[in-house]
Amino acid sequence: MPLFSSELSLVDFLAGGLTQAGVGALLVYLLAATQLTIFAVTLYLHRSAAHRAVDFHPAVAHVFRFWTWLTTSMITREWAAIHRKHHAKCETEEDPHSPQVKGIGMVFWRGVELYREARADRASIEKYGKGCPDDWIERKVYTPHATLGPTLLLFISFALFGFKGVAVWAIQMAWIPFWAAGVVNGLGHWWGYRNFETTDTATNLTPWAFWIGGEELHNNHHAFPSSAKFALRRFEFDIGWSVIKLLEKVRLAKVLRVAPTLDVRPNIAMPDSETLRALLAIRFQAMTDYYRGVTLPALREEAASAGARMRALLPRKLRKGLADDGRWLDDDQRARLQAWMAERPRMAQVAEFRARLAQVLDDRSNDAQATLQRLHAWCAEAEASGIRSLQAFSARMKGYALAPMPA
Ligand SMILES: [Zn+2]
Ligand SMILES: [Zn+2]
Repeated sequence: MPLFSSELSLVDFLAGGLTQAGVGALLVYLLAATQLTIFAVTLYLHRSAAHRAVDFHPAVAHVFRFWTWLTTSMITREWAAIHRKHHAKCETEEDPHSPQVKGIGMVFWRGVELYREARADRASIEKYGKGCPDDWIERKVYTPHATLGPTLLLFISFALFGFKGVAVWAIQMAWIPFWAAGVVNGLGHWWGYRNFETTDTATNLTPWAFWIGGEELHNNHHAFPSSAKFALRRFEFDIGWSVIKLLEKVRLAKVLRVAPTLDVRPNIAMPDSETLRALLAIRFQAMTDYYRGVTLPALREEAASAGARMRALLPRKLRKGLADDGRWLDDDQRARLQAWMAERPRMAQVAEFRARLAQVLDDRSNDAQATLQRLHAWCAEAEASGIRSLQAFSARMKGYALAPMPA
């Protein structure tokens, strides 16, 4: 028997490693390990290192850094730089991973290649990668030996679970490339709902964001990049924020910034400096309110007077063009939308007012007085337009103010 038992134990070791874990235990391990990786990415790399929205206790930050090294081989400075560049150059040729420019198939399936390409651009890493960890362990281990982490993990995984551990390891290696590079960077700029008419195509994938650490709420994030909290509407949930609150309770995290929310003061006769402050801080909200409060009702009226359904009146893609100034339409679609509006002067007027408001709010001159004057003029004309929904929007917008976000 001794001969057999030692042979058997070798077979056992190869099959199930030191732990001889069953399938259930392996799945629990896999889920825990991949979720920890997701949290390291969303909480540490993204919200803390890249956007400075939250600070973690050095011990917590280090656990995240170590785990990122062990399970992804990503380097903090590179990740933060590539991501900051994504925000700075969003949906342009310089955006490292824009589905608008590179195509959704490319970003979804080959996000890792795009990441590799972006890493090779050392000038950008230098430019956008400021303020990332530069301590001894970063310089001596994490940066120069980035791939050592996953290699080490492969050995650990094999020791613990045998050949099954190799499969578990392979899934772990694909986790971030799939969920972060593919789903968030790809689908998060392509499919889902939008709370804010940001100038990019970012979307929220689901309102209950628990699977990718809260990163599902990508439209909210693009509207307020430096907010530690991604859930911004009452029905939304951001699991990453729950973890931050938990860590804050035991003094392991400090929230630095969250998105402001909109407060509407009643009966404000003229837009004042508070209106302007709110509008500039949350201009996307204003553009969304405009679409819901002015454009959609006008469309509905058009449909009603034509005796048609809205879908038949104007296809969805072109309707979206009314929400974002036709930014993402191709030439042919834009021409169709123009022709459609040419026959509907009221819709053209609604679109023109929208474009002019966007222009006022996009003004980067830093001359608050001049911007406020243009806003006055806009409101006066909106109220004289005879379009009831536009008048109502203008009256409400004048009352915009910022309210601190309840934590
Ligand atoms: Zn994005
Ligand atoms: Zn970001």
